[in-house]
Formats: sequence, structure tokens, C-alpha cells
Amino acid sequence: MSRLGVLGWPVAHSRSPAMHNAALAALGMVDWRYQLLPVPPARFLETVRALPHAGFVGANVTIPHKHAALALADTAGETARAIGAANTLMFAADGEVAAENTDAPGFLAALGVPPRGMSALVLGAGGSARAVVWALREAGAREVSIWNRTPERAAALARDLGVRAAAAPAPADLLVNCTSVGLEPGLASLKQSATEAQGLNLPAVTFDQVGDYSHVVDLVYSSSPTPLLAAARSHGARTVTGLEVLLAQGALSFELWTGVRPPLEVMRRALDQLDQSGRR
Ligand code: NAP
Repeated sequence: MSRLGVLGWPVAHSRSPAMHNAALAALGMVDWRYQLLPVPPARFLETVRALPHAGFVGANVTIPHKHAALALADTAGETARAIGAANTLMFAADGEVAAENTDAPGFLAALGVPPRGMSALVLGAGGSARAVVWALREAGAREVSIWNRTPERAAALARDLGVRAAAAPAPADLLVNCTSVGLEPGLASLKQSATEAQGLNLPAVTFDQVGDYSHVVDLVYSSSPTPLLAAARSHGARTVTGLEVLLAQGALSFELWTGVRPPLEVMRRALDQLDQSGRR
């Protein structure tokens, strides 16, 4: 049995097992399985070191382990090292651990248009924002700004990656929501001012301001479409869902573990089925 899994804490909500097991089944890889691996931070190192000896070929890594995954790896790809976090581990038979980051290339693949020359506003300054800002910068975006609820974190990330921190959201070609919240449905008809929105702890972009962006990506995938993407569509923007980003990074990880390009339609159907069943 060749085993794969997703390491996180908590991780019960993860949609990765459904997506990857659907791909394995469709490819006839009957002796492969992908499972949840709930591991608290204090047990992370010893668990990962044990996985290769328990039949694991690789694993995804999610909150809060992405930095620790890079730190413990014996080798790491250029992208993971540049971002400072790994979401994919590959295990050799002798127990050696290699780390890579497919969040950044997955985001670019899901985006579907080359961001070269585009201006971009990224909401959020956490782990996913870091991968997205790095990806946009590497892909030649003209100007990347970061807005975050806690401005000091936006400033630190911007400094680190050589982009701009924004005190308030300004119009751009591309808007990417990397916060864990979106525009909430029904709140003052989505029309509150930016100041009120901040007071409500929203990412400071009102319904009307969403019209300032021709491309909108929402990494959040708690409902489909999210209120942010629904607003963007009503303004005629081109949108990318968090599920598409999840799918793209997962497909790249799958290929790293198996050497096989997975069937995207099969994975997408598995994610859609979870979405329809109301899984968050
Ligand atoms: P993270 O490192 O914990 O960062 C969370 C970010 O959200 C921070 O910038 C935080 O701002 C902001 N935030 C949290 N609550 C907020 C609120 N009430 N109002 C405004 N801002 C708020 O998380 P992450 O790993 O970057 O993930 C962020 C989101 O992206 C999550 O929903 C996650 O599920 C999703 N995600 C999706 C994919 C995908 O493949 N689709 C991949 C990765 C992540 P402060 O700094 O002010 O706390």
C-alpha cells in the first residue's frame, strides 16, 4: 500500500482526501490511499519522521505546520525556500524528506491569465497571502499591494517581499482575498462604507468597490460562490474560486508524489460533490 495524507491541526474539515482519492480511483491506482493526518504541533516532527517507515510516499501540509515542514525537511525546492513554507512533502524509501510548495504555482495555474503587467491588491498577510504575493511578484505583476486588518503584518510582509503595503484598498486589475473572511451576505445589503466594513472586521472592500477589479480571486471556499465572488460576478469581473486554487495546488502535489498528471475533472467533481453536500 502506498499511502498519502494531509497533516494539519485541525484537519477534519479538509477536502483533500476526497479530491485525491477520486483521482487515484480514476487512474486505477488501487493500492494507493490518501487520508487525514491530524497531528498537533508538539507531535509534528516525530510523526513526519515516522511516516516514510509506515508506507507513506508523501503528504500535504496545512495550518499550522507549513513552516515546520520546511524546517524539518532534508531538502527543499526553490519555491518552498523562497516562500519560507512547504505544503507538500515527499518521502524517500530511506526516510529522507523533501519539501516543496505548490500553493504559489497552484494559484498561478488557477488564475488562468498571466499576471505579467497587472496591478494587484492582496487582502491578508498570513501564510496564503505570502505565497500569493510571492507568486504574483515572480510572475511579473506590475505592482502588488497588501492590505491587512493588522497593518503591521502587511508592512512586514511587504518589506520582506519587496512590494507595497496599502493603508486602504485602491483599484487594481486583480483582487485576491487571502483573509479567512469574505464579504458577508446580507450585511447592510453589502453596501456599507469602507470604514463601517472595517468596523465589522470585513476586509475593507465594499460591494461597490469590488467593481474596481476586473479579476477577483477568493481563496476562501466555505460556500460557492462566496459573497465576494458573487459581488464580483455581478460587476462583470472574471472570478476564480478557492476550490479552483485548492484543485490546482493539489494536482501539482499529486504529480510530485506519483509522477502522474491527475484527472482534473474527476478531482473537480469530487470537490463539487462535497460543496453540494454543504461540507465546509
Ligand atoms: P492565516 O495565515 O491564519 O491568515 C489569516 C489572515 O486573515 C490574516 O491576514 C488575518 O488578519 C486575516 N483575518 C482573519 N480574521 C479576519 C477578520 N475578521 N477580518 C479581517 N481579516 C481577518 O491563514 P491563511 O493560511 O493565509 O488562510 C487564509 C484563508 O485562505 C483561509 O480561509 C484558508 O482556508 C484559505 N486558503 C485557501 C487555500 C486554497 O487552496 N483555496 C489555500 C490556503 C488558504 P490579521 O493579520 O489581522 O489577523
